[in-house]
Amino acid sequence: MTNWLEVSLTVNGELAEAVADVLGRFAPNGVTTEQGVRFVDDEDEGTPTGPITVRAYLPADEMLEETRGRLEQALHYLGMIQPLPAPVYTPIADQNWMEAWKSRYQPIEIGKKLIIVPAWLDSPQPERIAIKIDPGMAFGTGTHPTTQLCLELLEQCSDEMDGFKELDVIDLGCGSGILAVAALKMGARRALGVDIDQQAVDNSLENAQNNGVDSEALVLGVGSVDELLGGQFPYSQAPLVLANILAPVLIRLFDAGMAQLVAPGGRLILSGILDHQAGDVQVAAEKHGLRLLGKRQVADWVALMVG
Ligand code: SAH
Repeated sequence: MTNWLEVSLTVNGELAEAVADVLGRFAPNGVTTEQGVRFVDDEDEGTPTGPITVRAYLPADEMLEETRGRLEQALHYLGMIQPLPAPVYTPIADQNWMEAWKSRYQPIEIGKKLIIVPAWLDSPQPERIAIKIDPGMAFGTGTHPTTQLCLELLEQCSDEMDGFKELDVIDLGCGSGILAVAALKMGARRALGVDIDQQAVDNSLENAQNNGVDSEALVLGVGSVDELLGGQFPYSQAPLVLANILAPVLIRLFDAGMAQLVAPGGRLILSGILDHQAGDVQVAAEKHGLRLLGKRQVADWVALMVG
């Protein structure tokens, strides 16, 4: 097994690209970047902020010292244009860089039945229903509390609705498609995932394939409430509707007719709500004839089940 030397530099956003470019010349497997996010307002889904850590992995072979010398020289030239911090070196023993990077993503147990597993791992708990996720995806990697709350309510629904037998589901704002995939894996007959972002629709398709979802069972497309109600998709109503979008957007979507997507007697799971916004979302739901059936909270985030 190869050993590797991790090289990392933490720099500001403007420099990160140039540093990644330099490191990439010496790292056979490319570079990874990592940055924090902050929430600038209630509608923000996470704006990247703060310094970026750029990491690359050099094979620790007989060429290592020479490669390292060339890399330092290249960084030195870059540093003449823009001052740079010194690179940090960390030996990675007995595992490859991919493992080192991927080990940051651990399986996440949800409720009693589900587990989110990074796409390259076998599930450590085969008795749970595994949802495979590629953390490189744009939205909905399963690490966000709003997604987890939705999945917990989904599980509760499946217990109460006899395992979703013959049930159709609409996933509004599907992101990575994680909720639609989970519903199908939990027994739903068909799922319809829509998102206003084409990239999310593409990600959802890829994710569905990673999960071996029957391509007939899942329909994906760009759109939202208007397009659904306008008949642009195979069905415009379902007994179970999932919407993990932010609270102000959910409230607007109620005005656009979101409640009509819910078949009579059906349920709507709403997430992406900060606790101080939950009252307003509940009022919007009630205005459209939906009562509160359940509520879950993790830290500041709340998910509601109405029907
Ligand atoms: N369902 C996933 C992703 C949630 S992120 C999960 O639970 O993890 C929210 C998603 O909603 C984003 O992909 C965003 O593009 C989408 N979105 C935002 N506004 C929307 C709207 N008005 N209609 C439909 N989708 C919307």
